[in-house]
Amino acid sequence: MPAFVDKARITLRAGKGGDGAVAFHREKYVAAGGPDGGDGGRGGSVIFVPDDNMTTLMDFRYKRKYTAGDGANGQGKRCAGKDGDDLIVKVPRGTLIRDTESGSIMHDMSDGQRFVAAKGGRGGWGNMHFATPTRQVPRFAKPGLPGESRDITLELKLLADVGLIGFPNVGKSTILSVVSKAHPKIANYHFTALFPNLGVVWVDEGSSFVMADIPGIIEGASSGAGLGHDFLRHVERCRLFVHVIDASGFEGRDPVEDFRIINEELKEYAPELAGRPQIVVANKCDLLDEEAESLQRLKTHVQGLGLPFIEMSAASHQGTEALIRKCAEMLAQLPPPKVFEADYVPPEPTVEGAEDVVIRKEDGVWHLEGDWLRRVAATVNFSDYESRMFFDRALRKAGIFDRLEQMGIQEKDTVCIYDLMFDYQY
Ligand code: GDP
Ligand code: MG
Repeated sequence: MPAFVDKARITLRAGKGGDGAVAFHREKYVAAGGPDGGDGGRGGSVIFVPDDNMTTLMDFRYKRKYTAGDGANGQGKRCAGKDGDDLIVKVPRGTLIRDTESGSIMHDMSDGQRFVAAKGGRGGWGNMHFATPTRQVPRFAKPGLPGESRDITLELKLLADVGLIGFPNVGKSTILSVVSKAHPKIANYHFTALFPNLGVVWVDEGSSFVMADIPGIIEGASSGAGLGHDFLRHVERCRLFVHVIDASGFEGRDPVEDFRIINEELKEYAPELAGRPQIVVANKCDLLDEEAESLQRLKTHVQGLGLPFIEMSAASHQGTEALIRKCAEMLAQLPPPKVFEADYVPPEPTVEGAEDVVIRKEDGVWHLEGDWLRRVAATVNFSDYESRMFFDRALRKAGIFDRLEQMGIQEKDTVCIYDLMFDYQY
């Protein structure tokens, strides 16, 4: 049995944009045709999609590099290069995607949306874009931009939708093992047995929830303050509690009293969780006859509070189906678990390497090129104002505008930076 993996560090590389083409229309008897070099295709992106059938990050242990396709180069006759293929990567729904270096969250896949984690580079323009009345033979085209590269960490917190709470020895672990093996075909699914206190409960085809045996609050309460925090961490995302009570009274305890004590503990440790919905399970009913006074009292008490009440015997697998159905039914009515907000802020580019930017003037157009510039330009979305401002700041910081002015750029001159063309303004 391979060890359980809930964290995986991988690298993503989106595809490079294809280069634009330099080409001229050729036809018999036509002396000089116009420029007809097409654009390069867009690089493919690396895109994560949530998959409800996956419950581990196991696959990512064996494959660490994820690369999308490059865009093809443009060609003559105004032919654009083919776009690179996107790479679709499936992850379990609860996966958090973090930027490895900063540790900040880029996306929480539990929102159910696809997420473009590394964007493909834009294709370069072919020379057909550069013809003007005064520049009929543009001998330049633009190279494609690199795709984004990222080092990310996938993190899967096995978050329980349903938390089993109750005194020690009431049968929480037994219930978990019984309900998460309810479907024998799935029982050998690697997840189920990997974590002794956590299991997947399969309701119907494709529908499941995660149930956890929560280390008892009572145990925590008696052995120091630190455990209270641990308990909170475990139950935070539980949307539903199954409150298990030993109905047999064999250990000399009173079921109604046990029920009350646990709820008090819950209130004390986690006031915000005390109001979470509960299903009350009277376990070990096999040790009683149905008319047992203690069981009836518990039932009346619980139902009086308006809570669902299920009699069961985990040991003899009775009542398990009813419990699964009730959990599924209630989860369907409850709001989905909290989704983590992304807090990743892309770092501003450093100006290191910016001195290598080459500036040349050709046919009245200022062309800027260089590795640093290409990297920065690749991260900019020119249809977004914020993003353009970011690019502007980067150029300013790197002294590019100062250099242009020293070289004599005039107001309204055309500046061309990869796939960006604009009129210069002071
Ligand atoms: P937990 O501490 O709440 O996780 O309780 P466990 O699941 O470890 O169970 C404690 C003991 O109760 C074990 O010896 C189980 O075999 C037993 N037990 C659990 N469920 C039942 C049941 O329905 N009937 C009987 N008779 N015993 C049970
Ligand atoms: Mg246990």
